[in-house]
Amino acid sequence: MSDNLRNGFRSDRGESLRPSGMPRHENQGPPRGSQPLSSQRMRFRLRQFSRHRLLRRSLSWIGTLLGIVWALPLTIVGLLFALPVLAWRGHAQFIRGHTAALLVRGPFADAVLSRHPFGAMTAMALGHVIIAEQQGLSSRVLMHELAHVRQAERWGIAFPFAYLASSAWAGIRGRDAYWHNRFEIAARKAEKH
Ligand SMILES: [Zn+2]
Repeated sequence: MSDNLRNGFRSDRGESLRPSGMPRHENQGPPRGSQPLSSQRMRFRLRQFSRHRLLRRSLSWIGTLLGIVWALPLTIVGLLFALPVLAWRGHAQFIRGHTAALLVRGPFADAVLSRHPFGAMTAMALGHVIIAEQQGLSSRVLMHELAHVRQAERWGIAFPFAYLASSAWAGIRGRDAYWHNRFEIAARKAEKH
């Protein structure tokens, strides 16, 4: 209990009302109970902070799970493509960054990517599966492909149609169908993060 309360004199603003004649030094300084209270408050805030962190982490996992379900039709196509890659001396790696993805590499992927109809490629994303060359996969390329994974999470089954529509729109305006595709522009921006 503080000196102010013990003396039984307290104004509405919490200031002590010192009776006349009482030595001034008895009512000066912070109340004795303030130190344990503030450390209690600190512990309470720490608990709240860890709860928020747990909540944020849980929401992030729920978001990832929803994205995986939403993009599942595209991921199935990716997994079907991954099968021959894995069967022919290939290997898979789980990646968890802003989103989750399965990185698949092998000689079969090298052969297909170098003969891609849109020109030789280092990697491509099909839903949550990233098919990549064994050599030359930089972190920049990986960030680019993970951006396409997030786009697939957002658009779901409509993603390939939206992608082609964006290429067509660029072509109609006399621009490069790949370079000026809005999904490619967004993925190139993501490379820098
Ligand atoms: Zn791209």
